[in-house]
Amino acid sequence: MFVYADNAATTQIAPQVLEAMLPYWKEQYGNPSTLYRLGRESKIAMEKARSQVAQVVGAREEEIFFTGSGTESDNMALKGVLYGPAAKGKKGLITTKVEHHAILHTAQALEKEGFQVTFLDVNSQGLVDLEQLEQAIGPDTALVSIMAANNEVGTIQPIAEIGALCRRHGVLFHTDAVQAFGHMPIDVNEMNIDLLSLSAHKINGPKGAGALYIRKGLSLRPVIEGGGQERNRRSGTENVAGIVGLGAAAQLAYETMEEESARLKKLAQKLTEGVLRIPETILTGHPTQRLPGACSFAVGAVEGESLVLYLDMEGVCASTGSACSTGSLDPSHVLMAIGLSHETAHGSLRLTLGRFNTEKDVDVILEKLPQVVDKLRAMSPVWNRK
Ligand SMILES: *Cc1c(COP(=O)(O)O)cnc(C)c1O
Repeated sequence: MFVYADNAATTQIAPQVLEAMLPYWKEQYGNPSTLYRLGRESKIAMEKARSQVAQVVGAREEEIFFTGSGTESDNMALKGVLYGPAAKGKKGLITTKVEHHAILHTAQALEKEGFQVTFLDVNSQGLVDLEQLEQAIGPDTALVSIMAANNEVGTIQPIAEIGALCRRHGVLFHTDAVQAFGHMPIDVNEMNIDLLSLSAHKINGPKGAGALYIRKGLSLRPVIEGGGQERNRRSGTENVAGIVGLGAAAQLAYETMEEESARLKKLAQKLTEGVLRIPETILTGHPTQRLPGACSFAVGAVEGESLVLYLDMEGVCASTGSACSTGSLDPSHVLMAIGLSHETAHGSLRLTLGRFNTEKDVDVILEKLPQVVDKLRAMSPVWNRK
């Protein structure tokens, strides 16, 4: 038995995405910057991908810039704005305590360089407080960066309200939509989003391909300088196959979003109900305002790492935000920010369902997980003291 339930970490490439990419690793190897037909064909393929990505968020093609990852897009958004003319000399950045490290560590680096960074708290469900955000915005605020959906607990932020608020105060709004893109409806114009990060490998596309939406008219300082590709925003010969894969994956996500999100919601509900039947287990994150396939829990009196390793022996891929896996003494910053105690956070378990999961997979998890928890609790001094 093999069940992949870690789709927030990465996803399997869809067959039609791989199919679309193959020619660009074989005979269609032209450099898109060249003038002859082989190069022009690469350029045409890239521009098709640009429009495929743009349509998912209601952007114009020329507002999509390809990058090497979601991480790079996040760096480009924060550094590009704060170092560049778009900031209009302002030095303030507002973000949250639950961002992905691509934002968090970039913001911390900027703070060391002298920028003023505010890290907003979230409530126990992982939501930012709009009043707190409004109070944090000052005359020196250049940019607000708040993720669309959280990768650990799945909580979806009120992006449209945040966008409207930022617009009212005349500050730019970036959202890390790497988890949300292609999984839920996003419209950059309706939601007043000025910059948006996305990544191919979270939507059944290849690793190493991402994009940043930049609202027309915004001028960012490039993070990577060189030959001037991507209209001077991101130099380096383009990863044509990866970009074609991103386009195909975006197209697939766009066409199937409604049915897939309904299907995943149902599977996630069944999985959640089943897991919560394990004694002393709680759901983490928001009970309803969450990504369709995202299930996250804290299981009492077990270690998250042990859960993941024992589940692996049963053929189930899962994830945890507990201490050892984060490489430090502390559990993940997200679990701390939503107010879990260290003890509770130690039992963190994340199961994220995706395009290729079936009801059978959920049944397998619901058969294996309680057995694994029982086994671990039988060895647990904490459990046996009860
Ligand atoms: C995965 C992820 C990223 C990083 O994207 P990569 O393409 O893996 O660099 C950034 N933000 C969030 C919310 C993510 O889930």
